[in-house]
Order: sequence, then C-alpha cells, then structure tokens
Amino acid sequence: MSNSFAFEPLAPVTARVSGATLLFPVHRIYCVGRNYAEHAKEMGSDPTREPPFFFCKPADALIADDLPVPYPPRTQNFHHEVELVLALHSGGRHLSVAAAAQCIYGYAIGIDWTRRDLQNEAKKTGRPWDTGKAFDASATLGPIHPRSTVGELNRGKIWLSVNGELRQQGDLGDLIWNNAEILAELSSLFELRAGDLIYTGTPAGVAAVVSGDRLEAGIDGLGSIQLTIR
Ligand code: MN
Repeated sequence: MSNSFAFEPLAPVTARVSGATLLFPVHRIYCVGRNYAEHAKEMGSDPTREPPFFFCKPADALIADDLPVPYPPRTQNFHHEVELVLALHSGGRHLSVAAAAQCIYGYAIGIDWTRRDLQNEAKKTGRPWDTGKAFDASATLGPIHPRSTVGELNRGKIWLSVNGELRQQGDLGDLIWNNAEILAELSSLFELRAGDLIYTGTPAGVAAVVSGDRLEAGIDGLGSIQLTIR
C-alpha cells in the first residue's frame, strides 16, 4: 500500500540549460565566502590569515535571471554579489581535486543577494547568517552552460554593472580556491550530489541596489544576464 501526501508537494526546483530544452534539477545551494582577496579586504578581513568558508541557501531561494528580483523586506542595504556558479552532475565525499573537477556539469552566472545590514548584525552578535543570506529569491541564476560546450572555466573576466555603471570587476583566475579546490574542500564537509549548485564567491565592488535599478552581469565564455530590481 502506498501512502499519499498530506498535501500536494511543491514542484522540484529547476534551472535552465543553455541551448537545450533540458532542465537541471537543483539539489542544494552552497556558497563560498571571501574567495577573492580584494573582496575579503573590503569586508574588513585579512585573506592571508583567514581561508574562504562555506554557507548555504535553501534550493528554493533560486530565482531565474529572466525574472525581476523583488526588493526584500527588513533591509535598507540590499547588496549584489556577482559569482561564477558550478553545477554538478555527480558528487561524493572526500574527493581529490582531480575527481572533484569531473563532477562539474556546467557553469552559470549567479548573483548572491545579501541583506548586508542583517548580515553585519549577525556577524557582530555571532548569530547565523540565514536572515542576511538565505532569504526568498536570494540566488539569481542564469542558464547553465555545459562544460562539454564551454570547456573549463578557470580564468576570464567577471563583472557587474548597475544602470550602465561598472560596479564589480575581477578575474576568475584570482579565486583563492579554484573550482576543483572548492569542491574537494566542500566534499570533506558535505556529501556532494548531482544537482548541487556552488556560488564560488564574489570579486570586490559589492554595493547596494534600489528598486528600479537595472543590472547586467557577465563572465567571459558565458555571455551576460540582465535583470531589474522590483
Ligand atoms: Mn557571495
């Protein structure tokens, strides 16, 4: 006898795959903090003394890049963080760097949205970051470009502009932990699974947006995404 659900379960969270009708089923969203030295410095830490670290967002915090981003409640300091996102088609525990590299299905442009005032308050009081980082619609994601079409992405420009003015700029080659190193490190803490997304960290230049702002974000090899703040 099979049990039925107490109520209709939500549809699985999915992301688009570039140039295909395929949907990528999302399992978890992991994020890397302070993975570019210049951003670590602007956040007031010393990248030579503190290694990058991880935090999570719920999978259903994902919002496709073709949707306007709702300005979230309870903040007066809503920040953009443009990031390269890794999308996995396999996983495991305690992966070597070489084995971790083979887990990457593809790459996407993402924005790790942050209620900076709530995050700063959490830092000050030693509380969790969830209200600052893991709120609804806090993870914009562009289409996933399969590694089989774009190759390995370990260098190239990453940038974000607001109303036509360049705000963030960096190079993927400046990541403190590169893509495979991130995955190897993460797999020593969590079992990685197909469907996991990893936001790899943001370059310097994070700043606040307001309702009505138009953003464009790009990564060499992945084109760009455009969106507005609602
Ligand atoms: Mn980030």
